[in-house]
Amino acid sequence: MLKFALAGNPNSGKTTLFNALTGSTAHVGNWPGVTVDKREGVYKKLNVPVSIVDLPGIYSLSPYTPEEVISRNFLLEEKPDCVINIVDATNLERNLYLTTQILEIDVPVVIALNMMDAVKKRGDKLDAKKLEERTGVPVAEISALKEEGIRELMERAYRAAQQKREGKTVLEETKLAHLIGDVKIALEGKKVENPLFHAVKLTEGDELEVKAHPEELKTVQAFKERCADVGSDYEALVADARYRYITAHFSSALVRSPRAKKQDRSDRADRVLTHRIWGIPLFLLILFSLFHLTFGEDFLYLNAIFGFAKDVEDSGYAVLTGNDTLNAFVAVFYSTAGISTPGAILFNLMGFACDQAGGAIAAGLESAGAYAWAQGLVNDGIWAGLSGVLSFVPQILFLFLLISVLEDSGYMARVAFILDRAFRRFGLSGRAFIPMIMGFGCSVPAAINTRTLADEKERIMTNRVIPFFTCGAKAPILAAVCGAIASVYTGVNADLLVFALYVFGMAMAVVSVAIMRQTSMRGEVAPFIMELPSYHLPQFRSLMVHLWDKLKHYIKKAFTIIVASAIVIWFLSSFDWSWKMTDISQSILYDIGSFVQWICTPMGFGLQLGEYGWVFVVAAVTGLIAKENVIATFYVLVPAIGAVLPGWDDGENGIGAVVALMQGTGITWQALIAFTVFNMLTIPCFAAAATVRAETPKGKFRYTLAFWMLTSFVTASAVYLVLSWWWTVFVAAAILAIFVAWCVLRNRRPCRAQKTGKNSCARE
Ligand code: GDP
Ligand code: MG
Repeated sequence: MLKFALAGNPNSGKTTLFNALTGSTAHVGNWPGVTVDKREGVYKKLNVPVSIVDLPGIYSLSPYTPEEVISRNFLLEEKPDCVINIVDATNLERNLYLTTQILEIDVPVVIALNMMDAVKKRGDKLDAKKLEERTGVPVAEISALKEEGIRELMERAYRAAQQKREGKTVLEETKLAHLIGDVKIALEGKKVENPLFHAVKLTEGDELEVKAHPEELKTVQAFKERCADVGSDYEALVADARYRYITAHFSSALVRSPRAKKQDRSDRADRVLTHRIWGIPLFLLILFSLFHLTFGEDFLYLNAIFGFAKDVEDSGYAVLTGNDTLNAFVAVFYSTAGISTPGAILFNLMGFACDQAGGAIAAGLESAGAYAWAQGLVNDGIWAGLSGVLSFVPQILFLFLLISVLEDSGYMARVAFILDRAFRRFGLSGRAFIPMIMGFGCSVPAAINTRTLADEKERIMTNRVIPFFTCGAKAPILAAVCGAIASVYTGVNADLLVFALYVFGMAMAVVSVAIMRQTSMRGEVAPFIMELPSYHLPQFRSLMVHLWDKLKHYIKKAFTIIVASAIVIWFLSSFDWSWKMTDISQSILYDIGSFVQWICTPMGFGLQLGEYGWVFVVAAVTGLIAKENVIATFYVLVPAIGAVLPGWDDGENGIGAVVALMQGTGITWQALIAFTVFNMLTIPCFAAAATVRAETPKGKFRYTLAFWMLTSFVTASAVYLVLSWWWTVFVAAAILAIFVAWCVLRNRRPCRAQKTGKNSCARE
């Protein structure tokens, strides 16, 4: 099968093109560094199927970053039949820098001028024919996003792949041309493939080439000695020559419209959004509005301001409709709290649907005369677990939609930039924030993304704190707990509480990294250079692709891992040690749960909760398999406990299970928050832990495990104590102060030690 490679700068649209070509749904993000590994798919619209490889984005073919190594090795060793060099036409000159290097390889190349839609919109003109003449390879104008010109591009690539192409360099007019020519001839003599490419790289003094071709290196060194006037840093010379050539010969292909010269709208937006002081508060405000729209029950706080909802409910829906089902439906949009936000509406609707479906299933089994155990298994095991998770899915998807909008618009790249500026002095770099922010979606791809971090310590630390960025599977826990607290205590807003917990998780990540930087993971913070992509309107199609992906993921998990876990939990809570069906107070789970319950006492959900307090430990443990299980476990156990505690209302829908647990076990809101914090910070789900393990150097993962266990336990205990007895905040502050002092002292020691040696300490 023919094989085409997509190569280009980060953020040039490779993955968008890849998805358009192969119909796949890889992650597209408006920030650099989203694609770490290469990815393959098949394009089927030509006469023959063509395999397409999406390479990680790179600015150059030097071997400094993992992305560069992957892409370079692929181009040189796997010999694609054609390289589609995707060029962001809105950033022509910078993108062509890579092009000049790709052209040096003996491989057919086609240039795909991407983002032509944006170029046209700006009113700029691009002369593709001119660029084609000057580069000597076909140039196709496309818009990967709008899927324009793609067919044409592939046909040209197909034609190009039929012929051999010899590498060409833009350095022919420079003083280095002779040297490069000589080295190339020498390499050709040895039958080295891609002699021109290697010759240029060797001239640049590229590490890999220096090792691979020691003899030719002598030629280069001799030349350097002979021609000292040319300069000594050949790498810089070559880079300079490339840019000069681009400006002289390629740039004129682009004619900017006079309109575009006015100040760019992106720049103006950035002046506000990345403001030195207001940047972070604005970010928090934007984040909060996301949570308000998703979890708020009082849309835009209209009710808090005007106070009308109470009257609506007092007058009674019954008066409005006189039909119970219809009333329940009306309640989807209104409550005593006010007009529901879009997220709350989705949640209510889904709860409503789950209620109806659950009732129908139960009634169906009943009338079919199913065995009692089968009814229990289906109603209280499978369906309870399933509906517990599914009822949150639309709401969480809505949150994702909003986060994707931020990401695709280009704002999230700014967030990394803002955070870098604020937290660099504490040892965090903006580059590491990119995988962390990705962790809002799922820790698994986020952990994989850490591969691009250059420094091993930074990789380990980042992997440790990625789970602190609450992922989509943990979101239902927050939604349920905060929703329950808000519904029991008037004056508490669920949206504010969820937001506070999310921010708390992020703050914990920052604090943890800062502490690790002071103790076990000392080191310099790598400089962070990232080009800020220009803002653009998020694309409906790419948002939907994203959501669809997430939805599939949820459904798949719900019907496999979560159903399986629910069945196990139901079984353990319905049978005793002699495998006879019994009620929960005689069950296997009761014994196991009561046995380990005490461990959670410092966090507020241990022995103080009495007989059924172990539900929380069990839920946290099932969460290690998948975080959705925490809620699913509640849903399975609540009816069972309700059956043995008379008079306990086993509210089934929405956040009812948690409310029921509050009534049944007497857990305080403080302990519930501590429980949530514990789940946010402890060992993530199995899939995430396994990925982190794979991304962590051998033998280091156990420290990461210990870190998660310790951090979650200590933090949750502190949260419980401080929330329950406010004055303990002083104790906590004192301990923190001692710790900080210890860090400071410890850090000074190597400094003193140096002083006794020959160097005096730089800092003093
Ligand atoms: P990659 O880093 O090269 O894989 O780039 P992505 O495919 O992730 O795309 C980066 C950003 O550019 C995304 O926000 C895309 O929506 C956007 N993008 C990609 N192709 C086009 C295009 O043809 N026109 C416009 N206007 N935007 C595009
Ligand atoms: Mg990509």
